[in-house]
Amino acid sequence: MIQHDYHMHSFYSGDCKAPMEEMILASIKAGLKQICFTEHNDYDYCYIKPEETGMFELDTPAYREGYLKLKDKYKDQIKVCFGIELGLQPHTLQESRELVLHYPFDFIIASSHVCKKKDPYYPYYYDGISIKEGIRDYFEEILTNVSGYTDYDVYGHMDYIVRYIPLERASEYTYRFDDFKDIFEVIFKKIIDTGKGIEINTSGLQQRIAETNPCPEAVRFYKELGGEIITVGADAHKPERVGANFDYAEQVLRDAGFNHYCTFEGRNVRFHNL
Ligand SMILES: [Zn+2]
Ligand SMILES: [Zn+2]
Repeated sequence: MIQHDYHMHSFYSGDCKAPMEEMILASIKAGLKQICFTEHNDYDYCYIKPEETGMFELDTPAYREGYLKLKDKYKDQIKVCFGIELGLQPHTLQESRELVLHYPFDFIIASSHVCKKKDPYYPYYYDGISIKEGIRDYFEEILTNVSGYTDYDVYGHMDYIVRYIPLERASEYTYRFDDFKDIFEVIFKKIIDTGKGIEINTSGLQQRIAETNPCPEAVRFYKELGGEIITVGADAHKPERVGANFDYAEQVLRDAGFNHYCTFEGRNVRFHNL
């Protein structure tokens, strides 16, 4: 059973209103043994509304202070770790590197929320290009990130873009992992060769795609290529979502040939039997 949720947010993230304490209490209630907060930091995020400017830049000192108090308060009931979800773009790698060197993070998720200065969460991402081109651009940018940056532990929700293919263009193209297997191979090899890992993110199971990110075929392919480091996270932004669909994630891991999953403390990997 998976008892470690290694991707969750609290009100220190710009898109989350849940108090950190409520996330911890919900995690205890869900029977989790250990959790890691992974608050958002996206340098130069492509804000659409001017009033949102800066919302994805983390107040790390405030986050650290709030974390330390609660970690101690609940230490007899659950182990709480200090992580970050770093949204990367090729032109923000240096700034991201400096940030992570200044704080004692247990765990760092690298993510792509923006590609070519647009967030594929919004349909305008595909303006003037085909759906397939837009998806390939996204994976190309992940490749650029993992080639130029190694200050992370796992790459988060690697096919995040697939969650948000615009409904109004759904007839144009249906995502197939095989169409991008070639670029996944290069990305995974780079991740494995640099001693990094990936995560299984279960939040898409509650969304339109009703699947993990990345998809089970990608997890299987990662294992085939020799990938061993893999964490599991629900990416909860609400207390009721902590540890959600972990039974499904466990099945995806087993089907891919894993009998373990990982956590990190002080940036060091630990392996846990399924
Ligand atoms: Zn994310
Ligand atoms: Zn997240």
